[in-house]
Amino acid sequence: MTESKTTDSETHFVGLIGWPVEHSVSPAMHNAAFDALGLNWRYTLLPTPPGRVKAALTDLKAQGYRGANVTVPHKQVVMPHLDEITGAARDISAVNTIVVQEDQLIGHNTDGDGFLAALREAGFAPAGRRALVLGAGGAARAVVYALAQAGCTVAIHNRTVRRAAQLAHHMQDVGVHAPVTWVPTTATLADLDLAPFDLLVNATPVGMWPHTDASPWPETLPLPSHWTVFDLVYNPAETRLLAQAHAAGATAVGGLGMLVHQGALAFARWTGHSPPVAVMWAACQQALEATGTRAGSG
Ligand code: NAP
Repeated sequence: MTESKTTDSETHFVGLIGWPVEHSVSPAMHNAAFDALGLNWRYTLLPTPPGRVKAALTDLKAQGYRGANVTVPHKQVVMPHLDEITGAARDISAVNTIVVQEDQLIGHNTDGDGFLAALREAGFAPAGRRALVLGAGGAARAVVYALAQAGCTVAIHNRTVRRAAQLAHHMQDVGVHAPVTWVPTTATLADLDLAPFDLLVNATPVGMWPHTDASPWPETLPLPSHWTVFDLVYNPAETRLLAQAHAAGATAVGGLGMLVHQGALAFARWTGHSPPVAVMWAACQQALEATGTRAGSG
């Protein structure tokens, strides 16, 4: 990768395909990064209602876009319309980053590696450890895959047990490096033997604005002090779960780092430049503060 400033006079565009997208902090994050490196690139919002995804991808190419991010609810819907899907995106069954390469649409997934980068930055090395992941939706898919590929044994606990089981089976089918299991119907969190775990990941929206008093973890169940507690929710920055983790003396990690690192990895794929991570982090924080607490995911 190169750090040199571009002399390219043409403006290159990337955008965010999702619905809704108007509260996303991604434009602020990426445009700050382009500006910091003196790159003639712009990140725009591409609001795409359900049923318009194929047309949005056709437009992306026709309008000369260099790529896009994909967010809720289209991360899986885009897949059949892409020319190629790379390994992690295929295994996770979701695409959050598209690169336009010689008129081909290449689908990637940077959510899992973004999560791992943020986890490692917080001082947690996943190899040989054991994680309890709450949730079995889109974000959980990326997190479970990334953890298991990094050698961390995972147990999935989800409100709908069938989805947890399906996710665990899917991970076994794609041949991840560490075992992935699920918590069966009868076991509530209070029933679980917590001793084997080192890491708790909240991959549900519980605690997200405006329901900031809610926590996915029972108030009456003490969190072990040796745990790292990673909440994917980044709005608010200090969720109820993270407050519980702090009170228990555990290591508490918010979701902003994952957001920044998945963005940084996408930035590198589009531009070929090393992403200015600190700039992106500051821009996200500023955008979240500017929008109060309304900013959405992606
Ligand atoms: P999703 O696909 O809708 O999945 C949501 C999951 O949470 C499902 O497993 C669902 O269980 C569970 N859930 C929802 N409401 C619940 C409740 N009231 N009680 C218990 N479980 C509940 O959503 P997602 O895309 O995975 O996103 C999950 C969260 O991660 C969101 O807050 C999102 O903003 C955040 N996120 C953050 C980043 C980041 O970069 N920091 C990236 C992606 C996502 P059922 O299966 O029973 O419905």
